[in-house]
Amino acid sequence: MTRKQVTVLGATGSIGVSTLDVLARHAESYAVFALTGHSRMEALYEQCLAHRPVYAVVANARQAQALQERLRDAGISTRVQHGDDALAAVAADERVDVVMAAIVGAAGLVPTLAAARAGKRVLLANKEALVMSGALFMNAVRDSGAELLPIDSEHNAIFQCLPADYHKGMSSSGVRRILLTASGGPFREMPLELLSRVTPEQACAHPNWSMGQKISVDSASLMNKGLELIEACWLFAARPDQVEVVVHPQSVVHSMVDYVDGSVLAQLGNPDMRTPIAHALAWPQRIDSGVSALDLLATGRLEFESPDVRRFPCLSLARQAAEVGGTACAMLNAANEVAVAAFLQQRIGFTDIPVIIEQVMNCLPSAQVIDLEHIMYADHQARQCAFDWLAQHA
Ligand code: NAD
Ligand code: MG
Repeated sequence: MTRKQVTVLGATGSIGVSTLDVLARHAESYAVFALTGHSRMEALYEQCLAHRPVYAVVANARQAQALQERLRDAGISTRVQHGDDALAAVAADERVDVVMAAIVGAAGLVPTLAAARAGKRVLLANKEALVMSGALFMNAVRDSGAELLPIDSEHNAIFQCLPADYHKGMSSSGVRRILLTASGGPFREMPLELLSRVTPEQACAHPNWSMGQKISVDSASLMNKGLELIEACWLFAARPDQVEVVVHPQSVVHSMVDYVDGSVLAQLGNPDMRTPIAHALAWPQRIDSGVSALDLLATGRLEFESPDVRRFPCLSLARQAAEVGGTACAMLNAANEVAVAAFLQQRIGFTDIPVIIEQVMNCLPSAQVIDLEHIMYADHQARQCAFDWLAQHA
């Protein structure tokens, strides 16, 4: 049997590392075609030694030269390239079967879209790419015959609970609504007065999941759930009002689908991203992911509550952007990326994040999305507007 060739975009990140862990368990079925990384060159070097990819892609020429020399000295034939065109090339290469899209943020849009346009099996972790490009991305998937499999644990759960013909739309599948679960993050119980003083370190200390910094802050502000709401609408052809967010602090139920006959299907598991990664890699087969069996008796209670949008306004801002449509979601995402970076640099407080996003959404009108240029322009304008706010206030 020929092995499936896999490109891992964002191999050095949290999802990238988990992906390589699953791939290493099934070396007879999968070969690593390309690995990409933007920083953490030591980690990328080690990954190249272990997985022997045909290509490695890094950010700049200096990194490329240094990594190429080290690999050559170690007797590894991996070719090191750099830059955006190389990222898109390893995502779309005709030898590739599967692309793990695990770059964080808007930087992942072009290579992820390239994989979709080239008809690959796309394992989508990079939710920002879909939030930004919405219909454009889904049309690319449809036109090329790509297979889009969600890696976000909630969307992977929903995918597992939906019928095979879910593409026809929610009502023809008999679905009443999607119940998107949220852990509530590290500040779920923190009073509003204290939220303005929390540190990046506190925000990144997620109670259930170990993840990259940006998504950790998004989880703390509930913007992650907002982005996921938008992601769910595109993936499952749902309207925003058909997606309900339910806070579930244990993160054992990864999401649910509520059918018109009153049945509610849920997918449960330990909070470990190797489960959705293994599911999406092998679908429709099942393979071992290295995740231990769920011990429901040790878990004990499963609790559910409604999200507090007064303390976490990012969720409402995202819902509004989903309802407006057009470039609104790309602008929401861009403003959030700038605000989160400023928070991580301790230039602004945690509660300034939604203030900046709201300001950007209020000053820029949403436009229709016709092509990638429109999205890039909206992204650029929103970043500029957010930088203006920072220049005045931070
Ligand atoms: P991370 O910060 O740990 O890793 C990000 C990866 O992207 C790294 O390999 C980094 O080198 C690369 N990267 C960063 N900036 C880049 C740029 N400008 N150009 C090219 N590459 C760049 O992030 P993560 O937690 O692995 O998350 C990755 C994506 O998966 C995000 O979109 C996140 O929302 C999504 N996701 C993550 C988890 C999780 O458990 N970590 C769960 C669900 C979804
Ligand atoms: Mg998620």
